[in-house]
Amino acid sequence: MAHNHSHDHYHRQNDGEVDPKNCWPRNGCTVKRKQLSEIYPNLTVRPRPEPQSNDNDHDKWSNEYEQWGPLRCPCGNGYFCREHGDWIPGDEVGPGKAVPADQQRQGACPSSHYEEDCSGRENYVGRRDAIEI
Ligand SMILES: [Zn+2]
Ligand SMILES: [Zn+2]
Repeated sequence: MAHNHSHDHYHRQNDGEVDPKNCWPRNGCTVKRKQLSEIYPNLTVRPRPEPQSNDNDHDKWSNEYEQWGPLRCPCGNGYFCREHGDWIPGDEVGPGKAVPADQQRQGACPSSHYEEDCSGRENYVGRRDAIEI
């Protein structure tokens, strides 16, 4: 179990190997809009907002989500939210901030995810950057 790769991947935040302050060198816990393919070169799709469950596109989205939903930054806290496909930096996850990835639900994202204007946001934003990076 301890050497199982998926175990390591999902539970890194518990073993104290990577402090959020020393997450990715230079970048901390952030995935900026132009860095997606550099950081996650194996992705064949881009994180994007979850369609309504009765939408024809929802099955396709669910398959895509299997690729990017489990992705984390090295400290194990940052993730792409399923509601928006936006990157939530690991240092913005915690008490009084964003909920951890395994507790996410509709309406519980950081307030910036609900703002109409995302032009000032440096982090990856699904509805903007899934179309053009
Ligand atoms: Zn991190
Ligand atoms: Zn969100």
